[in-house]
Amino acid sequence: MAQEVITSLLLDELTAHFVGYGQPAYRGKQVADWLYKKRVGSYEEMTDLPQVLREQLAAEFTFPQAEVVRVLGSKDTTQKFLFRLRDGNLIEAVLIPASPALYGERSDRRTICVSSQVGCAYGCKFCASGLDGWTRNLDAGEIVQQLMAVEHASGEKIDNVVFMGMGEPLANLKNLKRALTIINAPWGLGIGARHITVSTSGLAPQIRELADDPTQFRLALSLHGATDEVRSQIMPVNRKYPLKVLLEACDYYVAKKRRIMFEYILIAGINDTDEQAHALARIAQRLSAKINLIPYNTVEGLNWSRPSRARQERFHSILRQHGVVSTLRREKGHDIAAACGQLRLQTKRAETEASALPRV
Ligand code: SAH
Ligand code: SF4
Repeated sequence: MAQEVITSLLLDELTAHFVGYGQPAYRGKQVADWLYKKRVGSYEEMTDLPQVLREQLAAEFTFPQAEVVRVLGSKDTTQKFLFRLRDGNLIEAVLIPASPALYGERSDRRTICVSSQVGCAYGCKFCASGLDGWTRNLDAGEIVQQLMAVEHASGEKIDNVVFMGMGEPLANLKNLKRALTIINAPWGLGIGARHITVSTSGLAPQIRELADDPTQFRLALSLHGATDEVRSQIMPVNRKYPLKVLLEACDYYVAKKRRIMFEYILIAGINDTDEQAHALARIAQRLSAKINLIPYNTVEGLNWSRPSRARQERFHSILRQHGVVSTLRREKGHDIAAACGQLRLQTKRAETEASALPRV
């Protein structure tokens, strides 16, 4: 069995390990500091840890590594990082520079969009991540590692985390919760729960489960259709959890916790009609939810496109007429969803083509 990566462990587990070696409990915190505060690159650099303990750790846990194989974009625009995992799989994370409108945060914040799975099983018709199906879940360490590697490679401190990269986070709930704890904990990366947003395509049972969890992370729901007819056409998950079931889970979440935010991609001729805007406004009112309208990003090989600027504005204005709080993203470079599997797809295709070449 492959070794577990050490950044998958919670502090009390690290501590328990050292106690198991007959060591004092403070060793756990010492190692967490080396990993998350001092950000060392190997066990060897943990200089106040006796050599024999470093060796014991190395024998039990792999040191986190995620090889950055490509970076696209520049410092003042969205930067995409493509990682190769230890089993060769590719995932991506995106660093989004300060943007005033993004999720209503202050303008000096840098956001990272991370992946939660290799591929995605949910097969939304418009999405690049689902095109090749699902390969596997990321473990907690691989999720956490995306933040650490991007901070290392970019020299930037990350303030916000959104789970809007590849994969459906709520289909990997166990590892997601573990990663959220490490990202949030003072002994870990120390990012406030209100600066962490989990996005889901609408897994109703897991939304209920999150509602019962005491932590205050933010939840974004990818709605993309305001009636079953439209939503089922583009999101197969809607057949499993139709709007009635999904919205009841959302009612439960809102009653138990705080707010849900909606993501709504605008796709020309599919979900951008006046009727959808009115229906969407009613759903938002029911849940007191804000809406992020996102003009669709074209995906190579898929036939969808974004509506005209006028249509986007019209849709937005209908929401406003209903008194619903909504934003319409304008800057292309700030489009988080551009993350969704597209870079990985290009690299995978290039590699497949390269490996299909005759050997000389
Ligand atoms: N699986 C989760 C999180 C990852 S997708 C979810 O679906 O919510 C993150 C967001 O990007 C989702 O709202 C998704 O619908 C959106 N998205 C996917 N492909 C897109 C595209 N080509 N253009 C714009 N948004 C896209
Ligand atoms: Fe998966 Fe989300 Fe893409 Fe749908 S939109 S295929 S759930 S990553």
